[in-house]
Amino acid sequence: MVLLQYVQQYGKNKKVTLKCYNTQDITEFFNEDNEYSMLYRIDNLYGLSQNPDTKDYIMFLEDEYCENCGKQCTHIVEKWCELCEISYLKKNFTNWTSGNEKINNFIQEFQLRINNYTDIIVEWIPYNQFDNIKEIGKNDLFTIYSAIWKNGQLNYDKNKRIYKRNLKNQNEIVTLKSFNSQNITEEFFNEGNKYSIYSHQDDKIYGVSQNPNTKNYIIVIQERYCENCGNEYTDTFHKWCKSCQISNLKKNFTNWTSKNEKIDKFIQEMQLKIDCYDDTIVEWIPYEQFNNIKKINKDDFVTICSAIWKNGQLNYDEYKKIYQRNLKNNDRKIILKFHKLQDHNTDEFFNEANEYSIKIYGDNNRDNKIYGITQNPDTNEYIMVIENKYCEKCSENLHYYTWCKTCQLDNLKNNFINWTSGNKKIDELIQEMQLKINDKLDTIFEWIPFNQFNKIEIIGKGGFAIVYSAIWKDGPLFYKEKFRRTSGNRKVALKCLHNSSQNITDEFINESIFS
Ligand SMILES: [Zn+2]
Ligand SMILES: [Zn+2]
Ligand SMILES: [Zn+2]
Repeated sequence: MVLLQYVQQYGKNKKVTLKCYNTQDITEFFNEDNEYSMLYRIDNLYGLSQNPDTKDYIMFLEDEYCENCGKQCTHIVEKWCELCEISYLKKNFTNWTSGNEKINNFIQEFQLRINNYTDIIVEWIPYNQFDNIKEIGKNDLFTIYSAIWKNGQLNYDKNKRIYKRNLKNQNEIVTLKSFNSQNITEEFFNEGNKYSIYSHQDDKIYGVSQNPNTKNYIIVIQERYCENCGNEYTDTFHKWCKSCQISNLKKNFTNWTSKNEKIDKFIQEMQLKIDCYDDTIVEWIPYEQFNNIKKINKDDFVTICSAIWKNGQLNYDEYKKIYQRNLKNNDRKIILKFHKLQDHNTDEFFNEANEYSIKIYGDNNRDNKIYGITQNPDTNEYIMVIENKYCEKCSENLHYYTWCKTCQLDNLKNNFINWTSGNKKIDELIQEMQLKINDKLDTIFEWIPFNQFNKIEIIGKGGFAIVYSAIWKDGPLFYKEKFRRTSGNRKVALKCLHNSSQNITDEFINESIFS
């Protein structure tokens, strides 16, 4: 197969590449072994055409060649050409200087490492670009500052095909690591080389600067240090400092009380367990925070109710670096567990409360989250506030699921009388398949009336069956809060058995089960 290439104006002045194949065999386009296969061109394929004279097929592809050097772009969709970007950066070396050759080389080496349009262009950054400079820590080699970088980093603009500074990167908080001596040593470069230009990592380097007063050189990196204590964040990505957050919680112990020493102590202990920015802050929650309290289960010791928590839980805000209540957590449905204990000082209550997790997805065998403790002011009962994982219908605790298998099987069984294939053996087969459902994402195997299929075409013959393709008007049945069909006009294959007319053989049943 010979490849010819054309570049033409197409459509609304959109530049595209036409790839013309001297083949009249359309199956070549779907051949996985062919490097020009459409299967590899999904990202930038506009369409297919055919030359009416030669009958050759033509692919319309997004322009994939660099306007500047004519070679194929490194990143086709973004029109990013590594060769041209590197040569542009090299040409630009004469337009900036740190005043120190070693520093210049250091920055240049970083710049020439780029091989992706998302990589950071490490720069020489004038010191007057920084605002609000605050010392937050110091060691033998470096003094650490937090600062606001006014203009922020360069980003590749794929429409204009240039690097520019986006508004969204303006006034970014950064960490400045200022070398404690004017004389640059290996230690400065070793420190700088610890950081990376990969934008998805949390150890990014942005550039080098120099304080004009002290003449000290500064490594500019992403915000990595807690302004408050000067230590590196526990979680740089979410700007979360464990020791500072724990100390904030401790300071706040005097601002709330359950009026029961043991309960207070339990909540405090749970709060101090946080180890991750999205762990739950277990709280003392005033009872008037709960609305719409409905009983869903009861035994001799415990009554379980669902309720709406007006304000909802606390979440960590990585910009303000505090916990606050997001609007999206307002009116959250939770479970209240009322304990009929005469004496709440018994260990039973706390043993159970300790069974709950503060992790967002649970941990070990503790899969339900606890949000806090509250108290009914009328009965003085203490109540655990936990995550809602109960089935509304059968009150079963669903643990990891938001889907109740018990209720679903009941629904399917109750529906058996609403459909029939007219053949007892087939009905039994379908019923058996339906009751195998094990996950809310499982498709529900059904009896489908033949008039649900359109555009029936033969696509193959084999064994004792003919295979057709067809469009299924309503599409398959799924479960999402209730049974529903969300993907109509779905293309399906139909298998029709030869001679099957009336005799349902074991072969048919086997094929249905295993296909
Ligand atoms: Zn190029
Ligand atoms: Zn801190
Ligand atoms: Zn249920």
